[in-house]
Amino acid sequence: MTVRGDSGEATAELVASRVLDVPDFPKPGIMFKDLMPLFADGEAFRATIDAIVSRHQGRFDVVAGIEARGFVIAAAVAYAAGVGVVPVRKAGKLPRKVLAATYALEYGEATLELHADAFTAGQRVLVVDDVLATGGTAAATLGLIERAGGTVTGFSVLMELEFLGARAKLAPREVHALLVVA
Ligand code: AMP
Repeated sequence: MTVRGDSGEATAELVASRVLDVPDFPKPGIMFKDLMPLFADGEAFRATIDAIVSRHQGRFDVVAGIEARGFVIAAAVAYAAGVGVVPVRKAGKLPRKVLAATYALEYGEATLELHADAFTAGQRVLVVDDVLATGGTAAATLGLIERAGGTVTGFSVLMELEFLGARAKLAPREVHALLVVA
């Protein structure tokens, strides 16, 4: 089977070879995409981080990671690019004044928070996460960053579940997915 992604077939294959499908987690009917094998493989992890950095090279001043697997990616990208990292967290975790966004999940809702002073005005922000599913998390995050004064100049994920239609929801913002699953 051929695989595809926005950084070429070899990178897409690398990600595809390091993902485990876990059925019915965390709820019946959900096929969880477990990327821990990719994180645990030094060479593969470095190659995927490099692909994200090279895609956005020179176009971001800071990286925002979405709790919790996005933190792993954000910290590595930030280190490789020599920029800082900002966490987008679940409700109640950040100690100072926050901006909050509540959004719908498949069942119920969730809230994400960002420190209100996380960015300087117009700072260029690259947003990263592991899996793009319905796009609700990403849409809430991008909105929060803009409310905080940042300018989102890139959004990268390791894997996109294309059939859930997030790309259309996030348009005209560009999605960079290393592996696109139809
Ligand atoms: P969504 O808001 O539906 O795009 O969901 C994206 C967030 O939930 C990301 O932070 C993912 O880590 C997580 N997520 C959603 N669906 C899955 C899945 N099938 N496998 C792994 N993580 C998922």
